Amino acid sequence: MLYLHEPEDLGGLLDDEPRFRADQLGDWLYRTPVLSIEDMTNLPEALRSKLASGHWPFDVEMEQSSDQSRTRKWLFRSPDGAAIEAVLMGYPNRATLCISSQAGCALGCTFCATGQFGFERHLEPGEIVAQVAYAQAFLRQIGMPGVPDRLSNIVFMGMGEPLANYDRVRESLRRMIEVMGISARSITVSTVGMVPQIRRLAAEPWQVGLAISLHAADDELRTSLVPINKRYPIADLEEAAQEYFRAKGRRITIEWTMMDGVNDDDEQARKLAAIARRLQAHVNLIALNPTPLSEERPSTQLHIDEFARVLRSSRVTVTVRDTRGQDIDAACGQLRVIAGNPSGLG
Ligand code: SAH
Ligand code: SF4
Repeated sequence: MLYLHEPEDLGGLLDDEPRFRADQLGDWLYRTPVLSIEDMTNLPEALRSKLASGHWPFDVEMEQSSDQSRTRKWLFRSPDGAAIEAVLMGYPNRATLCISSQAGCALGCTFCATGQFGFERHLEPGEIVAQVAYAQAFLRQIGMPGVPDRLSNIVFMGMGEPLANYDRVRESLRRMIEVMGISARSITVSTVGMVPQIRRLAAEPWQVGLAISLHAADDELRTSLVPINKRYPIADLEEAAQEYFRAKGRRITIEWTMMDGVNDDDEQARKLAAIARRLQAHVNLIALNPTPLSEERPSTQLHIDEFARVLRSSRVTVTVRDTRGQDIDAACGQLRVIAGNPSGLG
């Protein structure tokens, strides 16, 4: 399980080898990651076969692609049965990887498949970083048609609430930024709004982007969709977001999943516009991806356009996001595999 070791401790795994081997191994794991230990061409054969079984901290159980091979979902399985999902989305000028920070999620947002199936466990820093390394290796060695051969963005928008797994996520960020050499500005942590941890992240040395999953602009509606809002209401969240923005000088993104007849009316749009203006935040709208247990339905295109129009008329910048990978259950909020059961259904 090479990624489960601190990158600085790799030497300890290779005690009968010359010192420079640890640096070579570190390069293969973090700087030019490869899909197979066989590709670590400057390591002697004997060492490669000794390390072979422990390269990744998981097996690749399933690999699916859609959108003309420009969306790829991996289901990684750890030895204890935990499922880890990551989704790579390729575009002509960028490649975005969506990673998981927990197997499952304890926060139970009503419209999210991960939340509907509950919490399994936190992911280790190495399990988080290995998703990034795997995708880097895939892009370099196999690639996607017409897509750059390096990751341009990494978003913590897969399974789990990253800030509920703070210390491990922090260590994974350290490794991505300080060991892999990925620019902090190309990484975005998405949170449902864990106020104390937003403040902690604001005090970290890296200019990581922050996305806040708001979905409702008043406490009553938000608590009904996002139960943690009871503990961290919108006013507190706004204050923490403000602090983050001041500390990093980076615009916050507000995520808003559009649900028909729930949060897509003009009143919500106007209230959201006020919040976004105060925070100077950018708003991302995304139509709900239907999940097996949610009652909510996606907003119609007409409502999404009208909602975006209200925001823009209040001088808020808005992006309407496309839904990639819906047919392979790879879209935002659809990741939901539970141990031993790839479909996630009983
Ligand atoms: N726990 C974190 C990150 C993972 S969820 C968070 O909630 O921010 C990533 C994004 O997917 C969040 O913005 C979340 O609100 C959104 N999401 C969840 N379920 C969804 C669904 N069914 N359709 C569209 N987006 C969804
Ligand atoms: Fe957890 Fe985020 Fe899903 Fe809410 S939306 S249940 S916080 S993964």
